[in-house]
Amino acid sequence: MGSEVTIVEMLDSVLPGTDKDLLRPIQKSMRKAGISVLTKAKAKGYEKDGDGLVVEVELDNGGTEKIPADQVLVAVGFHPNTEGLGLDAAGIQLDERGWVKVDAQCRTNVPHIHAIGDLTGPPLLAHRASHMGEVAADIISGEPAAFDVMAMPLGVFTDPEVAQAGLTEAEAKEKGHQVRSGVFPVAALGRAGAMNQPDGVMKVVIDEKTDVILGVGITAYNACDLIGEACLALEMGALAEDLSLTVHVHPTLSEGVMEAAKAARGEALHMINRKR
Ligand SMILES: Cc1cc2nc3c(=O)[nH]c(=O)nc-3n(C[C@H](O)[C@H](O)[C@H](O)COP(=O)(O)OP(=O)(O)OC[C@H]3O[C@@H](n4cnc5c(N)ncnc54)[C@H](O)[C@@H]3O)c2cc1C
Repeated sequence: MGSEVTIVEMLDSVLPGTDKDLLRPIQKSMRKAGISVLTKAKAKGYEKDGDGLVVEVELDNGGTEKIPADQVLVAVGFHPNTEGLGLDAAGIQLDERGWVKVDAQCRTNVPHIHAIGDLTGPPLLAHRASHMGEVAADIISGEPAAFDVMAMPLGVFTDPEVAQAGLTEAEAKEKGHQVRSGVFPVAALGRAGAMNQPDGVMKVVIDEKTDVILGVGITAYNACDLIGEACLALEMGALAEDLSLTVHVHPTLSEGVMEAAKAARGEALHMINRKR
């Protein structure tokens, strides 16, 4: 809309925790949109300056920058909204950060009181809250159920969208897996070209020894829709071979997930095989 935007981020990248391969197309898209990003930079505060505002930023090199702005959006930090609920009186235990502690049945330490969603701590996501609600309702009505999710998907509604499920490559390595990954460029998909949405990548992370899919990440138009297939694969304990041999409609963006699975196995069809 023509606004100049500056993002001030204290950590070393925007969307912390996002796989670096998935982040690159977003950084490119932000540059194209004229959004500048200051990473490892601390917003110290803002004050009025005439009709506008000035944000004081401490930079990584120790220097300070003053950024003039019409509007300041503070999108940092979240805390549990438990005040006034009378949790003390009910004897409900909180963890050290103040989130309500629950077990796999979404039961608090007071057996007839359940808690779901944001109140129980991160990740703070609508679909997590909803799923926990189903579990709690089942348990309260005497049905067996557990909140036991292999792949809690995460969606970021940027342009293009970013979606992740399971482990990122870095997380998989940290957990001691011998990792292989396949990264397929969205631009190589016919449908992406036809839709003029060529930006992004699809990435499948697998355990090299067992072929088990550990995580899937997508940066693409409609990535948050496309991640559903990956969630099912992760929940079913699928192998990369399963994704690779599943026939996908051509031409669709979903073919990229299959291609990334093939690439992770060193069997890429429509790109050069590279060991990653
Ligand atoms: C701007 C924004 C964008 C978001 N976008 C996404 C997204 O794209 N995808 C996604 O998955 N998640 C998103 N989230 C997170 C998502 O909204 C939450 O994870 C989700 O709403 C959690 O559901 P919940 O039922 O735990 O809490 P809430 O939806 O917050 O519901 C709690 C309800 O309790 C009410 N309440 C609070 N105190 C009391 C009280 N004392 N008595 C009675 N009622 C009370 C509140 O008014 C509220 O209606 C977003 C959040 C924000 C703020």
